[in-house]
Amino acid sequence: MQRKKYGRIIIGTLCFAALLAGCSQKKKSGETSGQDYNKFLPMINITESEEGVYYVQQVQDDINDYMVLKYADKNSAKETVLCQKVNCKHNSEECQAVVGETSYMGFMTCMDGRLYYMVSKSGEDDVGLYLYSVNKDGTDKKQVHKFEGRRTPPNAASMYRGKLFLSIPTIVEFEDGSGSESSFPVLVMYDLLTDEETEILEDRDSIYTVPCGGSGDSIYFLEMDYGGDNWLKYRQYDFHTKEIRDVFDGEVEDGQFVLDDTIFLQSDEKDKVETYNLKTKKREEILTCDEKYDFIYFKIGWIELVRRTKDGDRNKDFYKYYDIAEKQYLFDDFEPDTEVFVRLRFDDGRYWVEKDDQSYFYDLKDKSWTEVEEIK
Ligand SMILES: [Zn+2]
Repeated sequence: MQRKKYGRIIIGTLCFAALLAGCSQKKKSGETSGQDYNKFLPMINITESEEGVYYVQQVQDDINDYMVLKYADKNSAKETVLCQKVNCKHNSEECQAVVGETSYMGFMTCMDGRLYYMVSKSGEDDVGLYLYSVNKDGTDKKQVHKFEGRRTPPNAASMYRGKLFLSIPTIVEFEDGSGSESSFPVLVMYDLLTDEETEILEDRDSIYTVPCGGSGDSIYFLEMDYGGDNWLKYRQYDFHTKEIRDVFDGEVEDGQFVLDDTIFLQSDEKDKVETYNLKTKKREEILTCDEKYDFIYFKIGWIELVRRTKDGDRNKDFYKYYDIAEKQYLFDDFEPDTEVFVRLRFDDGRYWVEKDDQSYFYDLKDKSWTEVEEIK
């Protein structure tokens, strides 16, 4: 059986690996005013609703290469393709949960009962970058917006206060037909209510731009220098006044999402983790590690302490996971992510974990594992 491949997205230290056709008459009312309106919703390749988890899986069979939208129920731990069509084989674009090999699907979030995600199409037809939405049961799929002149997946995407924020490279086509090249990303804001698209920041050489948090009527975004100087800036953009201001200077390793105006910082000695509030400028130590780490990844709800060893010329990384809310480690030991890979922390505190090529819901409270069962 083909090993499942999941898009792994790490903010900051690694790039945001790898995420819509115009419609002028669409029903917009109610889309942006519900309970999720004030939440900053990072868009990655996996997201959750109260009932379940939605994600994209890359599939290769004998004939095709495609991406499929899947759903795993949180109560029953059963996973299915997000498709209601009777007798559907879910292996071609006849299925609305599938995009073919010339398309990319990902960057999803659940907002006010609907799932939003991005598709970039690079095949013969409909080339472009699109925002789609679909009901949580997989019905009523709609094309919400086409980003004109864009066709690659964005580097990062987030939804906040009825607006979609994208970090996206501009593609320049040479007129002589010799090819095309992409530049460093621009920051684009798309308003779901007014259907208006605004370029907040233009591309600048070697500066990488990423939306990473929301606060009041503003967003936080990161600027990272990949030109060799290794600096990073957290900046804030007010979408009413259009003002941009600097809120934190750091190094590229400090790149992460901002939740509740807070970022996490690793100590120079690699033995502590602190929080830093961008609003109040207050620093607080939240974790003293028993063993030193080499570096840290900050995820939404947990921290990954990483120890790196050399295996010949190759790096071999070992991970230890720490739950921020529960203030405890998920497992006792450092392990390679080829053996244990944490994908998502649910709002109820459970985790989606990949272990030995099998998916599980892991409950930190009683350390129990529930196998996720695939329903064909
Ligand atoms: Zn189907």
